[in-house]
Order: sequence, then structure tokens, then C-alpha cells
Amino acid sequence: MNKASKKTAHQLSARSLFIWRAIQIAVWIVGASILFNLIFFPKLGIHLFWNILIPVAPALLVVGVGIWRNVCPMASNALFARHMGISKRKKLSISQSGKLNLIAVIALFLIVPLRHAFFDLNGFYTAMLILSLGLIAVVTGFFFEWKSAWCSGLCPVHPVEKLYGLNHQLSLPNAHCDRCHRCVTPCPDSTPGITPFSSKKTKVHKVSGFLMVATFPGFVWGWFQVPDVDGISSFGQLLGIYKMPFLGMLASIVLYLVLNYFFKKKELVAIFSASAVSCYYWYRLPALFGFGLYPLDGVLVDLSGVLPSWIFTVLAYTTTLFFFWWILFKKPNKFSWVNRPVFAEKE
Ligand code: SF4
Repeated sequence: MNKASKKTAHQLSARSLFIWRAIQIAVWIVGASILFNLIFFPKLGIHLFWNILIPVAPALLVVGVGIWRNVCPMASNALFARHMGISKRKKLSISQSGKLNLIAVIALFLIVPLRHAFFDLNGFYTAMLILSLGLIAVVTGFFFEWKSAWCSGLCPVHPVEKLYGLNHQLSLPNAHCDRCHRCVTPCPDSTPGITPFSSKKTKVHKVSGFLMVATFPGFVWGWFQVPDVDGISSFGQLLGIYKMPFLGMLASIVLYLVLNYFFKKKELVAIFSASAVSCYYWYRLPALFGFGLYPLDGVLVDLSGVLPSWIFTVLAYTTTLFFFWWILFKKPNKFSWVNRPVFAEKE
């Protein structure tokens, strides 16, 4: 073991490993049940996926992104081959890894608006989306080492993890990689203070980092300005679901470029991170209870005839204050999302 690995080594005991595996299997079963419901009981499946799991996810990424990295069912799919010892364990070059990051960001911006026309209202389409992504995750795991191709590459949630997980406060073991094979540089799991700008080896890395930070608050804002529609029957309708998110992105870029003169890059990333997640809950929490801009969209339980609307105004300000405090003002953490395991001997 070299000096560096001695400092950063955090091996799981057999007992911890057993507990983490049990949690991973349990979360995977929950994921599979949601998928089953999306196909066979779509109304329930849509509630479980779009109105419970997804609304909880951004807050989880902010406070403890490492938990998600350890238990995400899609990661379990991607790493199945590696755990079974049947992965070809190829290494991606820096430039390939940058390209995967950019594809992930573009996929995020293309897929999320489609929720309005297809996924939010249709359990089967959502199930097909999850199955397709799951299949890609499994296939990448058969070829590439550990998390390089999916969890830290193509997964469209990964850019959001890097933007929101700036000041997570939990120090956890890495419950997947048993040894570190340096499959991705910098490793988002093992690098303290990782941001979307941390990988700046190539132009493509820089573009994906910029796109994610500078546009995301506007994208989130624009997404909530669009009502759900049942399917797409014309090109105009298709443009309609992308127009506001893309206009929001443009406005966000202008704001980023202006603020760039006044703030250091690290501060700017934190401001845009807090703005995006606050904007999400500003609109999403009222919508879950029937107080959204479009009162029939994304409702978990309709409490509009029961609760006064000012409660959600208070809630919106409270969540915004919380996320700005947590991301910008809370004492910065000194550790990575999960601890790096012992380095493997060079092969
Ligand atoms: S800890 Fe090492 S092996 Fe695991 S994803 Fe990071 S770089 Fe790859």
C-alpha cells in the first residue's frame, strides 16, 4: 500500500459490507416494485416515482449525496457485472470520459421536458424510460471499470449530483468499489470539493461543466412554466415543451456571465446550485398538494380545499433559506461523497 492510500484507505468491515449489501438489495427491490407498478398499476406507479421518489431526491443529493451513490438501484445494475467478476473492466480515456459527461448533460436537458408530454402522465412510458436507462447501465458495466462509464459518465442524474452535492455533510464508506482502480479522474466519489467544473482536462469537460452550472436554475424555472399535455401531435407542441426551459437556460447564462464579474467561480457554483434546488422546491412542494401553477399537474394529495395557500408561501421561503444556508453558508465539509477505498496495485 503506498503512502497516499494509507491516508485515504477506508475499508468496509465484513459486517458493514453485509449491511450495505442488504440496503442496496432492499432499495433495488423498492425500485423494481415501482417499475412493476408503473407498468401494471400506472396511477400508483406515477405517484411513487414522480410524486414521491423524485421530489425527495434533490434534497437527498444536497445533504447526503454519498447515500445515493451507495444505494442507487441504477448503480447496482451498472455495477452488477463488476461485482460478479464478469466485467471486461476497460478503462476510459480522459477524452472519452469527458464526452460521456457531455452526453449525460445533454440527455438531462432533452429528457426532462419530455416529462410534460409523456412520462408524468404515462406509467408505461416512464417504465420504458427507466428500463432503457437500466439496460444501458448494465451494458456499460459489462465493459468498463467500476463507475467510470455509467455512475460517473453517462447517467443523466450524475451532473445534478455534482451540482447539488457541494456541501453534503456525511462521511460514508464506498459501498461499491472494493479497491480503487483509478477508473475515473477526478473520481467524483472520492474527491473532496468536487463540482461540475472539477474535471477540466478537455474542452468538452469545460463545456459540460459550464452548461450544467450556468443554465440549470433557468432550466428548472422554465420547466415549471409548462403544463402537462397528453402526448405530442405536432412539431409546434414539441417546441412548446422545450421553449420555456430553453429560454430559462439562456436567461440563466446571461445572469451567470454578469455575476462572473463579481464572484469567485466557487461562490458562483454554490449560488447557482442553491438557486436551482430552491427553485425546484419553490414550485414542486405546492404542486404536490394541489397549489401548483397548473393545479392538476404533479399532485400527490389535493389539499387545496383544506389548507390555506399562504402555508406554501411560507414553505417556499423556508426551503429557499435552508438551501442557501446549507450550500453557501454552512461550514464547508472537508470530505468526499464517500471515502476512497484502498488503491489497487497497478495492473
Ligand atoms: S473509487 Fe476508484 S475505482 Fe471507484 S469509481 Fe472512484 S476512481 Fe473508480
